[in-house]
Amino acid sequence: MSEATELGFDPDSLRDKYRNERDKRLRTEGNEQYVEVKDAFAHYVDDPYVDSPVARDPLFDEVDVVVIGGGFGGLLAGARLREAGIQDIRIIEKGGDFGGTWYWNRYPGAQCDIESYIYLPLLEELGYVPKEKYSHAPEILAHSRAIGEKFDLYDNACFQTEVTAMRWDDAAARWIVSTNRGDEMRARYVCMSNGPLNRPKLPGIPGIESFKGHAFHTSRWDYDYTGGSSDGGLDRIGDKRIGVIGTGATAVQCVPHLAKGAKSLHVFQRTPSSIDVRGNRPTDQEWADSLEPGWQRNRMQNFNILVTGGHQDEDLVADGWTDIIRNLSGIAAARSDVELTPEEMANRVELADFQKMNQIRTRVDDLIEDDATAEALKPYYRQFCKRPCFHDDYLPAFNQDNVTLVDTNGQGVERITEKGVVVDGVEYELDCIIYATGFEVGTAYTRRAGYEVHGRDQTLTEKWKDGMRTLHGFQTNGFPNCFFMGVTQGGFTANFPHMLNEQSLHIAYMIEQGMKSNARCLEASLESEDAWVKTIEDSAVFNMQFLQECTPGYYNNEGQPGGGNSLLGSQYGAGPEAFFQIIRNWREEGTMAGVSLN
Ligand code: NDP
Repeated sequence: MSEATELGFDPDSLRDKYRNERDKRLRTEGNEQYVEVKDAFAHYVDDPYVDSPVARDPLFDEVDVVVIGGGFGGLLAGARLREAGIQDIRIIEKGGDFGGTWYWNRYPGAQCDIESYIYLPLLEELGYVPKEKYSHAPEILAHSRAIGEKFDLYDNACFQTEVTAMRWDDAAARWIVSTNRGDEMRARYVCMSNGPLNRPKLPGIPGIESFKGHAFHTSRWDYDYTGGSSDGGLDRIGDKRIGVIGTGATAVQCVPHLAKGAKSLHVFQRTPSSIDVRGNRPTDQEWADSLEPGWQRNRMQNFNILVTGGHQDEDLVADGWTDIIRNLSGIAAARSDVELTPEEMANRVELADFQKMNQIRTRVDDLIEDDATAEALKPYYRQFCKRPCFHDDYLPAFNQDNVTLVDTNGQGVERITEKGVVVDGVEYELDCIIYATGFEVGTAYTRRAGYEVHGRDQTLTEKWKDGMRTLHGFQTNGFPNCFFMGVTQGGFTANFPHMLNEQSLHIAYMIEQGMKSNARCLEASLESEDAWVKTIEDSAVFNMQFLQECTPGYYNNEGQPGGGNSLLGSQYGAGPEAFFQIIRNWREEGTMAGVSLN
């Protein structure tokens, strides 16, 4: 029997199809295809959620720790610093409250598709069990506020405040933190938790500035225009022609609500997302009551091990994420067969990936009535080339008479005019364009942070011009007493707050050591930093070949995985659990290896 007959599909033709679909989308401009939200586009990042700016005098005082960012990272850092006995903390946050991603992303249908019981941080500390398996945005925002209350992080916080620069004063061994409120505050330590997807981006579509209708980015949803709330009910657009550009995880969640509310909805697609079953359900109170202390940590770890291909006797979360890995059954099979070469193993994993993606494509056929629309909605790439999505209402929305999918055959929107959007020479007249075009990922760290960091001898932009250089992702030589929380050079996991939690424990430990020994400077050595960068380079999780073969997106630096801050190309290769063990061992050793305390 031929391989194709045995499998029920032909791997060679799928491989060709994937390659063709990728090639169509490759653009020499990479990240340069996007427009930065500044100057004429700056209003796209105005905060629609505060009524008026809070007035306060500039601050010229000193605190022990400034934490930049009041999302989960900053909140966790604050909580763990408090637990370590550090009182003098100030969180600086651009938004009007805590919440970060969940402060900004209030679009209709916003929901987290990582299970709430492992995603929402500090549940046991707060004695809270979320209401549903997958929390909606308002609950997550409320939980962020509850963390702020619980750990007294509101006390000294500066909201509606944007850091504009950080300067290291070597003589005083203090950071001077400047803000757009005229502050020049001093800090012994700074923890930067700017967020991995904090800076919205717009597509560099010719004519984007010429549109005369209404327009906004999904992370600054204009409810004055649409009516409704995060729960939907968009009751002001019944007479409006709405266009959505982008079909990533955000569009997947807001499109069903727009479809319900709008007179007409056009969804402009460059690459379809892979969309599996959601299956949300309310929390079973009996189960919640039965949880034993330590349950959240165990559950987070159980998920993390499973989604990175490890073994656990029980799958506690048992959802689409763990299913993806279970379905990559080739991995398990290959592992038990010692005769297989690495190439043969890779081949089995690839076949399992084809099978899983075939299921995803079959689901599209099952749910979409029109054949041409169904074909256009099928993703042709490997599962982890783009972020997998889970939703039960997105695909059926395209069966509605008022909803049209405008597939751009991988090319993106051709042009924007005064009146609307042009694809393939056809102009679609619209009243409103909603940009579901995501966030900057591969651009320079300081550009995404929105401020420069002036270290002892150079700026962070200069130091990292060819990519990040850190010890364990936390510190970089030449920038004493400064810590980074984020997604690179650490243990990448689909459950991002899990990593933030481990990072916050580590940073709190380091600052505690610095405070206890009354050190002026706590700084990673150049040698330890070089060694860690080499470890990362030698062990990148997703190898270059995989990333190069992927359709472009922010996971592979828009198809240029070698050429910048490739998200998946810069992670510790042995996986998050191994990384967490490394930093735990480092702390237990108690010698601050590779870090000087002077
Ligand atoms: P993404 O970056 O994932 O998606 C941006 C979309 O815009 C893509 O479909 C992209 O197409 C499209 N696009 C870009 N330029 C053009 C163009 N010129 N013409 C047409 N289309 C264009 O952003 P999202 O906001 O959707 O999601 C960002 C991340 O946030 C997710 O990956 C996820 O990590 C997180 N998130 C998580 C959620 C959850 O937990 N459920 C929900 C929402 C977001 P192409 O693919 O071709 O580049």
